[in-house]
Amino acid sequence: MAGAQTKPAVVILLGPPGAGKGTQARILEEDFGLVQLSTGDLLRAAVAAGTPAGQAARAVMESGGLVSDDIVLAILKDRMAQPDTARGITLDGFPRTAVQAEALDALLAEAGLKVTSAISLEVDDAAMVDRVAGRYTCAGCGEGYHDRFKQPAVAGTCDKCGGTAFKRRADDNAETVRARLDAYHAQTAPLIAYYEGRGVLDRVDAMGSIAQIRQALSAIVAGAAV
Ligand code: AMP
Repeated sequence: MAGAQTKPAVVILLGPPGAGKGTQARILEEDFGLVQLSTGDLLRAAVAAGTPAGQAARAVMESGGLVSDDIVLAILKDRMAQPDTARGITLDGFPRTAVQAEALDALLAEAGLKVTSAISLEVDDAAMVDRVAGRYTCAGCGEGYHDRFKQPAVAGTCDKCGGTAFKRRADDNAETVRARLDAYHAQTAPLIAYYEGRGVLDRVDAMGSIAQIRQALSAIVAGAAV
């Protein structure tokens, strides 16, 4: 870790599917060196690798429900044990339940750390189905695109890495997105009050452009890093 006096930042991005958590976590990694830690990505990798956790998670993910806390916590702990996380992290898609939030506090406390900042990306639910249902990513570098809102400058070629292969998530269809929104409101939205009670919550209007949201998040993360 650079600068031994400052503790690494632990930033949480809260928000429903489509709010821009992944996009902004990638940007925070570029701007602040905070390592993006997405439990969705970790679970998709476990599904692709066919691990026991991946096999158990697959059907739940396809239905839009939440994977069990035990599986998610085991996967997250493994990832947090890797040395790059000492630079600071942005948690994208975690925690999603009260049990996960409390387990995170305990895990961080073991390392003498705590949540620096929890940012709620506030969006209009109705717009989220359209946003999520059209999205896809570059298979090479992970850059995000959208059928209507963000096409590559040259059709079929990634702006960032020049790759020509793209992929779509199996759960990015309208029906599953609705189930994921329901899961968010029932189980994850209450965490907004949890972090508000600890004095680490900021709310950001996430209906604006990627650049506007980036600016708002930068100000929060830079301010919290004192
Ligand atoms: P995401 O990539 O964050 O949209 O997550 C995709 C799917 O993975 C979710 O719909 C859940 O089924 C599962 N998932 C990801 N993160 C979590 C979590 N923290 N707790 C439970 N399930 C999760």
